[in-house]
Amino acid sequence: MIDPSATATTGLLERLEAGPVICAEGYLFELERAGYVTAGPYVPEAVLEHPDAVIRLHRDFLRAGSDVMLAFTYYAHREKLRLIGKEGALEEMNRTAIRLARTVAQEGDALVAGNVCNSNVYVDGEPESARMVRAMFDEQVGWAVDEGVDFIVAETISYVSEALLALDAINEAGLPAVINLAIFREPLTREGLTPAEACKRLEDAGAAVVGLNCVRGPATMLPLLRSIREAVSCHVSALPVAYRTSANEPTFLSMSDADCACLPEGRAFPTALDNLACNRYEIAEFTKAARDLGVGYLGVCCGAAPHHVRSMAEALGRRPPASRYSPDMSRHAYLGTVPEIPEANRTFVKGM
Ligand SMILES: [Zn+2]
Repeated sequence: MIDPSATATTGLLERLEAGPVICAEGYLFELERAGYVTAGPYVPEAVLEHPDAVIRLHRDFLRAGSDVMLAFTYYAHREKLRLIGKEGALEEMNRTAIRLARTVAQEGDALVAGNVCNSNVYVDGEPESARMVRAMFDEQVGWAVDEGVDFIVAETISYVSEALLALDAINEAGLPAVINLAIFREPLTREGLTPAEACKRLEDAGAAVVGLNCVRGPATMLPLLRSIREAVSCHVSALPVAYRTSANEPTFLSMSDADCACLPEGRAFPTALDNLACNRYEIAEFTKAARDLGVGYLGVCCGAAPHHVRSMAEALGRRPPASRYSPDMSRHAYLGTVPEIPEANRTFVKGM
């Protein structure tokens, strides 16, 4: 069990009452790029095989201003572990992931969140499927509670009925629940509810925070947030993918890259999205727009890197440790403006 004296000083709800809370995400994509996750199955095996890589990313996100260390248990569920033949590692992977998150959270007074997600085997309206998925949530939530997390995030779920199963498991554990739905091209849950209707149901069932994560980028998530904010009175979350989705290509699964002739199977998702990524300034704009709508739980999902998170924090007026190294173009060798930069350099690069 954990040492109670080592838990964060204030809880999620108190922090949300005081102002926005940042939760950096996107561990699967960032660690895939770094060579510690296999694209396709996307199982967080790095937790056991390369814990140093997971700790490093947690720490980068902490320095960048994340208030939450989200345990890297996304897809560390029974169905995924079975898919790669490692069901026996399920409990150890979950418990270790939470301990890694806690190790770094304690370096900066961050909260530790457990994480459950889309089962990929849920069939709406089938009681046997609901029973099996509920058991998957129960075991992960149980380990998270046992390891002393501050709250639990259930996310990237596109059936509100499946999200309600996760919420019920978290409610029974007595912890605050953050429930993030994933909305695909059609701006509805897979049962056909609007995101606002779905979030209202989740609020009524006891979620502390309701909103959206993944699949949609800033431009196509933002329009859905207003109706959610109007429909619920609890806190609202928004964690878009860091890609330039648009009206024609509203999800990162649908994005094309006309400038690239070598896309695998003609598709940018998920391993050739690099050229379609949001820059830090676009994340800052999203942050301010979402905050102005009244969204209090903010983050970035797939595609996020530490510079996005720092930009989010700075857009909220903060100076996290990584801001020590935020851009200072006044001292750039050719574009700088301080007297030490030779005027000839500035003249040389004009028009280049
Ligand atoms: Zn994502």
